[in-house]
Amino acid sequence: MPEQDLRDALIATARAMGPAGLNRGTSGNVSVRDPAGEGFFITPTGLPYASLSAEDIPLMKLDGTSSGRRKPSSEWRFHRDLYASRPEVSAVLHAHSTFAVSLACLRRDIPPFHYMIARFGGDTVRCADYAIFGSQALSTAALDAMEGRKGCLLANHGLLVAGRDLDEALALAIELEELCEQYWRACQLGEPVLLSAAEMHEVIEKFRGYGQQ
Ligand SMILES: [Zn+2]
Repeated sequence: MPEQDLRDALIATARAMGPAGLNRGTSGNVSVRDPAGEGFFITPTGLPYASLSAEDIPLMKLDGTSSGRRKPSSEWRFHRDLYASRPEVSAVLHAHSTFAVSLACLRRDIPPFHYMIARFGGDTVRCADYAIFGSQALSTAALDAMEGRKGCLLANHGLLVAGRDLDEALALAIELEELCEQYWRACQLGEPVLLSAAEMHEVIEKFRGYGQQ
């Protein structure tokens, strides 16, 4: 995809976050890897997505320097560190969506109450340790929680997902927010019955099979 189209696709994904229930205002951020290998494009800090044009999207290198007329999102560090350490990741999305934030405030991993938890790569969705927004400590905690996974919660903060492209990142974020809401609702009624390690292993193997088709 040419550079201009990639920036437009990034803006389209950012704008889709609101209607998808992932975002109100400017709290989230999204990025996409530059296929030319220089780094990644990321939403700028503090600008409403509705008013963005391609020229507002900075290009950031893996050394943390950026070019363009706008400053990158203040939360660029976990984007940078995911691209630097996970070659299969080409898009990263972060949101302060209501149900993910609610569960992240309990600082609990989401257990295997539903088989779709396996879509994120394991039998839980982990909650990363708390660190202040935008910090290297937060990025380090997030990458620990993301090990072998496509998504995690960030304690007292929100959700983070990493996909092979923008469409997958958006779909993962919607799925994770949905799972957070479903888990929250189930907990209102009682203690959800969890799937066993063997049952989750079976689901993970089945998803692996689908991926190879
Ligand atoms: Zn945030």
